[in-house]
Amino acid sequence: MEKQKICIIGGGLTGLITAITLSKLNLKVDLITGNINQYIKSNRTIAISQNNYDFLKKLKIFKFSKKEFWPCSKMKLYTEAKKKEFTEIFELNRDKKQKKQILYMMENSIIAKYLIRNIKKKNIISLKTHKKISGIIPSGLLKSVKFKSKDNSKYNLIIICTGSNSHLVKTLFNDQSFEYSYGEVSITTTVKHSFIKNNVARQIFLNNEILALLPISNTKTSIVWSVKKDIVNKYKNKNNLFLKKRIKFYTKYFLKKVKFVTGIEYKNLNLLIRKKYYQDRVLLFGDALHVVHPLAGQGFNMVLRDLASLERILKNKINLGLDIGGSEILSEVSNETQPRNFIYSLGIDFLKNCFSFQKKSLKDFRNKIITTLNKNNFVKDILFNLADKGFKF
Ligand SMILES: Cc1cc2nc3c(=O)[nH]c(=O)nc-3n(C[C@H](O)[C@H](O)[C@H](O)COP(=O)(O)OP(=O)(O)OC[C@H]3O[C@@H](n4cnc5c(N)ncnc54)[C@H](O)[C@@H]3O)c2cc1C
Repeated sequence: MEKQKICIIGGGLTGLITAITLSKLNLKVDLITGNINQYIKSNRTIAISQNNYDFLKKLKIFKFSKKEFWPCSKMKLYTEAKKKEFTEIFELNRDKKQKKQILYMMENSIIAKYLIRNIKKKNIISLKTHKKISGIIPSGLLKSVKFKSKDNSKYNLIIICTGSNSHLVKTLFNDQSFEYSYGEVSITTTVKHSFIKNNVARQIFLNNEILALLPISNTKTSIVWSVKKDIVNKYKNKNNLFLKKRIKFYTKYFLKKVKFVTGIEYKNLNLLIRKKYYQDRVLLFGDALHVVHPLAGQGFNMVLRDLASLERILKNKINLGLDIGGSEILSEVSNETQPRNFIYSLGIDFLKNCFSFQKKSLKDFRNKIITTLNKNNFVKDILFNLADKGFKF
């Protein structure tokens, strides 16, 4: 029997990893990317959970050295106390018995390079770079894609991984989504510092801002700082001196001799929840499907959980000789992933709102709850499992 054909659109981390994962099934995979260099130049980093690290391990594409995945055995949360001092309110430790880390940090550029190299080397995925898809059109019972003109390939299934701001998704899915802006921008950069045993991920809840210090080696730490848009607009300039000064001020409590080794990147922060996951042989995936605030470091973790579900469902259907683009199959994927993504996204949004309280009484009440939870190991285990594996139902 002829192999079924799948087309993956988008060369971000979602598109790359989805193409590699599904190429291991009995399928023909085409990957069509826009500008693939965007990632290689980025300074962004991503924290992934132990469970997702184990999922990636099964793909056998990385060496799994500390250069690719830097382990963090602790996570500490702080609030800003009086006189610009920080108070530690929560600590989560790795599970020593089960050898589980709290998280692993990966640099988007390093991971993207590995994935692209793997795709080019193995030759099992047909890679079309620097192409922008402008539409998806029917081709008999199957689907084709359109660049400037129609492409002749016919696909059983098209997976759109074109990110949260894609014109293609907006036209095809008629913008059926719930979306709102946090009125914030994420500022990301990487700093070099004196050698330390750098295995603690730190998150500081400042007044209306969140600053994360995420280790990527013993001498390098990634900074992710969410700041109100008006502040960024006021101080963003060519040298970003004011913003850099503030980063130095906050990091000096934990890191010594800080130097900026990359530029600063900015990204508007939104919440996006799609109502519809699929339509006629087309499935949405990655940031095209859901976007959450980075405070919980869960956006890509949600994508990897979706991918594990998709891989398992498609594998079963291919073994049964079924058409993988059939609406019952896409509905099964959607039924499994949509409810848990919905609750997870709302949960992260709730957390974000709790950390945006302005009233002192509400802040004190929130901090009291967190310090109480910090003493309860049972609750901590639940939180660890939720961050590690997401919701299972
Ligand atoms: C500051 C910040 C910190 C984060 N930290 C974490 C974290 O710690 N942990 C975590 O799990 N997640 C994190 N995330 C989320 C994570 O970065 C994203 O979920 C992840 O990068 C997935 O992106 P994507 O590939 O779906 O979309 P994108 O990165 O937007 O990629 C989309 C790609 O599609 C291409 N494209 C668009 N239109 C077309 C077209 N018509 N034809 C062809 N190609 C097209 C684009 O060129 C682009 O390459 C963070 C996000 C931010 C902003």
